[in-house]
Amino acid sequence: MVSVCTYCGVGCEIEVEVENNKIQKISHFPGGVSNGGGICVKGRYGFKFLEKRLPTHLAKMEYIDKIAPQLPFPLQVRLANLTPYDHRFYQIPFTLAVDLTSWQLGKIVEEMGGEAVAGIGGARTNLESGWVFQKFIREVIGSPNVDNCARVCHAPSLKGLKRTIGEGASSLPFDALFQSEVIFVIGSNTTHAHPMVAKRIIEATRRGAKLIVVDVREIELMKFADISVILPFETNLLFLNSLAREILEKGLENREFIARRTGNFSQFKTQLLSSPDGKETFRRGGFGKVADAIEKIAPLLTRKTAFLWGLGVTEHLDGSDAVSAIANLALLSGNFGEGAGVMPLRGQNNVQGACDVGCLPYYLPDYQPPEKEGLKTPQIFDAILEGKIGAVVNMGEDLLQIHPNQNKVAKAIEKLPFLVVLEVMESRIVEKADIVFAVKSGYEKEGVYVNAERRLHLTQPLVTSHLPDDWEVIQKIAQKMGGEFNFASTREVLEEGIAREVGRFAGARYARLKNGKSLQWPIAPSGEDTPILHREKFSTPDGLGYFHFAQWEPRGELQWHLTKGKTPTGDISPPWYLTTGRDISQYNNGSQTDPAPQLHRKYPEDVLLVNPIHRPQLGERVQLKSQFGVSAPVKVRYTSKIRPYTLYTTFHFAQSRVNFLFGDEADRHTLTARFKSVEVEVIPVETPEKEG
Ligand code: SF4
Repeated sequence: MVSVCTYCGVGCEIEVEVENNKIQKISHFPGGVSNGGGICVKGRYGFKFLEKRLPTHLAKMEYIDKIAPQLPFPLQVRLANLTPYDHRFYQIPFTLAVDLTSWQLGKIVEEMGGEAVAGIGGARTNLESGWVFQKFIREVIGSPNVDNCARVCHAPSLKGLKRTIGEGASSLPFDALFQSEVIFVIGSNTTHAHPMVAKRIIEATRRGAKLIVVDVREIELMKFADISVILPFETNLLFLNSLAREILEKGLENREFIARRTGNFSQFKTQLLSSPDGKETFRRGGFGKVADAIEKIAPLLTRKTAFLWGLGVTEHLDGSDAVSAIANLALLSGNFGEGAGVMPLRGQNNVQGACDVGCLPYYLPDYQPPEKEGLKTPQIFDAILEGKIGAVVNMGEDLLQIHPNQNKVAKAIEKLPFLVVLEVMESRIVEKADIVFAVKSGYEKEGVYVNAERRLHLTQPLVTSHLPDDWEVIQKIAQKMGGEFNFASTREVLEEGIAREVGRFAGARYARLKNGKSLQWPIAPSGEDTPILHREKFSTPDGLGYFHFAQWEPRGELQWHLTKGKTPTGDISPPWYLTTGRDISQYNNGSQTDPAPQLHRKYPEDVLLVNPIHRPQLGERVQLKSQFGVSAPVKVRYTSKIRPYTLYTTFHFAQSRVNFLFGDEADRHTLTARFKSVEVEVIPVETPEKEG
């Protein structure tokens, strides 16, 4: 059977052997396009979760006790013989879960108004569920507060690209990398986060492409790079602006392209050249190697270049501005077309699709502006604490692990009057839910997923399940609350709902996506798709590209070296900076990957990478402390691949409490958390080895 991997935004097509309603083996589908001829360990082994999945719908005992006296009599009667699921929950029939939820949501809407309800989710389920979900929150509940986990990842890519080239998505398919002469990767640990894209990058270098890799630490992809750049923390924007400046100062810009395809070059040039900062700022701070690299990279960008980035760019205070700075480089060098363009490496398997169909507080489906902008997820937490939100409907997002400022999130969830969760696996947020709908996973249902190259794939049920899909749950609740939509199948949601309302999906049909076939949006009604965007014009109102300049604000590691680091005695230790990321063997909160023994063995706990010079002070296990919170003790792995005073860890295991270290600091445009840089103290928790 052919389907699609349920994990990352690469969206690899898989071939699956099933026996007795159990998956036996997953391998790559040879006819696939996105898989690039293989799959990674998660795709291969990450299916054991199906044996540990939530089997039934649940209602919290405490909640039932609390609301029972208020319920209408017929509902009260149905609570009489509930069976305990465990010490926390009753198992409840689907219809009862629907009736309780619609009654409770209706009551909250009546008492507090529709805006007292928020909906969060959509990136881990199919496109159909995302579209129905936002429709329910907006049209039935009457709330603008709908968001998805792009909030903690690529919302800045959408913002940074939309204002420059009009479309916040990759302009290229992954395979276009084979036509690129230069591949520029910044802030992406691609071999771990998007393994089958990394495979293509490495293959492209073997075929002659030049590779430039930029990060705050040495990553595996650098082994294949022609130029590797280790940046001081918090300097992406300075680095990207300095590259643009170098291009202009050396007269390397593509004047013909700029004149024909862009709208505000002179203004941008003046702003950039009058900035006080450039490559010399790095040199002054003692990072001369970065300045030298800028001189070498600028001329390379005049060749056919693909620009790739990940959360190492977006999860910063200036994430959106840094993304626009990448777009500036592509515009300056005229790099749009075959083998050239911009490729944000989206994380979740349907985060692109969730944004496309309007699971965002500031966009309706197809990126149309709403009448009223809703709250972003961090604002929803604040509003809960202020008593303004009475209910959250959470579709597949572990709010109690993946968001920053977990101390605050936990308080908000404790205070929230009513929490409904639609989930596949047990998780921290499931524990806190009043009603839990157990829903089908990606391997148990059909539906469309949109990957990081705008490609629509259709999944098919690999194993049968009696549970509903997310959209079926939402539709049932909506119907009870007066909603008028009534789709009979997932196919009908796509073809009768989404394709009619969302222009970019106009020609999306199941028949065109069956048997591992795929299409990249925009898809014309005829079924013709669009592998490359922006060939002749950009998606802005007048078709022109617009440069966007933002000044780098001095801060972080470089600023420390420019100021405090220059003491006459030089006896102050630099601060420790922590950055976070993913390991190839685990996925986000690990709930779906960790049950696979092969994946658990490869990466059983979060590990902190530290330079060996610190071993004598730190020992084998440490706690991290920031101004916002404290982690649990984490195992240390010493490696010279990380610089002194730089730290890296993953956040797959809730017990590590890594996300307690991050506060509300975020990209100012999108509130995407600053996960890639936090100053910490390092506290040894075991006796360090004695020196010598
Ligand atoms: S690269 Fe991503 S989509 Fe492909 S197999 Fe691995 S996790 Fe799945």
